Amino acid sequence: MKTSLRTHTCGELNMQHLNEKVTLCGWIQKIRKLGGMTFIDLRDRYGITQLAFDAATQPELCQQIDSFGREWVIQVKGTVKERYSKNKNIPTGDIEIMADEITVLNESLTPPFTIEDESDGGDELRMRYRYLDLRRNPVKNNLLFRHKLSITIRNYMNHIGFVEIETPFLVGSTPEGARDFVVPSRLSHGEFFALPQSPQTFKQLLMVAGFDRYFQIVKCFRDEDLRADRQPEFTQVDCEMSFVTQEDVIQIFEGLLKHIFKEIKGIEVGDIERITWADAMKYYGSDKPDARFGMRFVELNDVLQHKEFKVFNQAELVVGIVAKGCASYTRKQLDGLTEFVKRPQVGASGLVYVQCHEDGTFKSSVDKFYDQADLQAVAKKANAEPGDLILIMAGPRVKTQVQMGALRLEMGDRLGLRKKGEYKLLWVVDFPLLEWDEETQRYYAMHHPFTAPKPEHEAILETKPGEVNANAYDIVINGTEVGGGSIRIHDKNLQKRMFKALGFTEEEAQKQFGFLMNAFQYGAPPHGGLALGFDRLCAILSDADSIRDFIAFPKNNAARDVMLNAPSTISDAQLKELGIKVSEWE
Ligand code: ASP
Repeated sequence: MKTSLRTHTCGELNMQHLNEKVTLCGWIQKIRKLGGMTFIDLRDRYGITQLAFDAATQPELCQQIDSFGREWVIQVKGTVKERYSKNKNIPTGDIEIMADEITVLNESLTPPFTIEDESDGGDELRMRYRYLDLRRNPVKNNLLFRHKLSITIRNYMNHIGFVEIETPFLVGSTPEGARDFVVPSRLSHGEFFALPQSPQTFKQLLMVAGFDRYFQIVKCFRDEDLRADRQPEFTQVDCEMSFVTQEDVIQIFEGLLKHIFKEIKGIEVGDIERITWADAMKYYGSDKPDARFGMRFVELNDVLQHKEFKVFNQAELVVGIVAKGCASYTRKQLDGLTEFVKRPQVGASGLVYVQCHEDGTFKSSVDKFYDQADLQAVAKKANAEPGDLILIMAGPRVKTQVQMGALRLEMGDRLGLRKKGEYKLLWVVDFPLLEWDEETQRYYAMHHPFTAPKPEHEAILETKPGEVNANAYDIVINGTEVGGGSIRIHDKNLQKRMFKALGFTEEEAQKQFGFLMNAFQYGAPPHGGLALGFDRLCAILSDADSIRDFIAFPKNNAARDVMLNAPSTISDAQLKELGIKVSEWE
């Protein structure tokens, strides 16, 4: 990393360089005085090197250093010497630089928090001074990791014939999907661009254009409420291929994921298991199951609906999970679980338990209704053994499945079954094409409106829309949806029928997606693809919870950039130029 201002970086000198004359540049991490010696830890991206100054022979230099502070930028010339007390923890720990010249390149204010691995700065403060936060090893390393992952992906995709093509950021707004970020147009007053939620339609047009294999590591924008793994702008590895079936797409991306795990983690991922959406809901109560542990659901309707217990008798679904070795849970622990499922985030009305005691007897919270033989039948059905605890919920099918899914994850956490460093990849396939929304009384595309129904279901699109499955697939890692895609509609008439099923009038469909349907008239090949959430992938491969740590300049929980103080108001002159009147909408 030699430049005009330095011969080496702060991370590369060792015993092989003894007695070499070197010049280093960097930031002052720390200044220490020990007897007649002054030491500076000099830091750059590559590491830390110790500089040593002797007060006896270099009084002026030592005096000069007295005025220095943390994070000053200096250039040092000196000679590489062996250290007396070595630091085995860093690669440069055997040597130090006996410095004979210092140049101050820039002074620094004292930073508002410590630039250490464990900083004393709170979240908000570190976000405001993100450029200082990025000097800290953990944050810096996250971005270096992100870079490594993106290079690994680019190289692999290039190697298998994918072409990276940029698509526009100023596009038209579409009301489907999430909310758009919109951009007013100065040249066409009263009209707006939107920032793309994904390059979906463009990548399909690139297939019509004949590019055959496209990819792009690309920013996408969605104006949604934030969570730990969501940001208003995020990055996708977006891909599309022509002349493929669902199996081809799955094979290609399974190859990519295997390659990533091998290169980045040194882990051989075997063939990735597949589960249908219906089974994922049935056995895990989630379309993104954490398959690091079992605890599959068991339907108990037939063994629990024959007594006087109304809650079960009236329920569409009675479902249980077995928590291994938890029969000894105390009253307090069991109450804790009931409280958990009753939290508004889960929303269940209650929880029934059956303790399978070691002596072969059973104790349940519904002993009033069920005798030992009943409970034994439940245990048998659920495959529970002495020492196990069966947790049971009842209610409408899907709602109860989702609630039980939350409890399953909670039990997985409590029992330490969701182990860091262990990765379970899963394809979820055969998603329903459409999803009914009670509130608006219409169907929505489960994936997006361009997803193709399974060919054998095409005929019932109008008659039984709710029963149509799609050639759509998600890739899930440890319970997080890391990506998803589908085989697309490439036939104009089928696309028209799909818009109709979604409640679009022909005019609306033409206005919003006419460009795509027009393109389909000019020889659109069969095509399909997938997009991976790049930020999420970074976080998962690093066993981290938040994607924010892997984004150089992220937004905070309120979707604000606290460093820029954005969003912010703009001047009246700017508003006028854009033809925008600010009115009071409330
Ligand atoms: N564009 C889709 C998305 O953003 C992914 C795909 O279908 O390829 O989720």
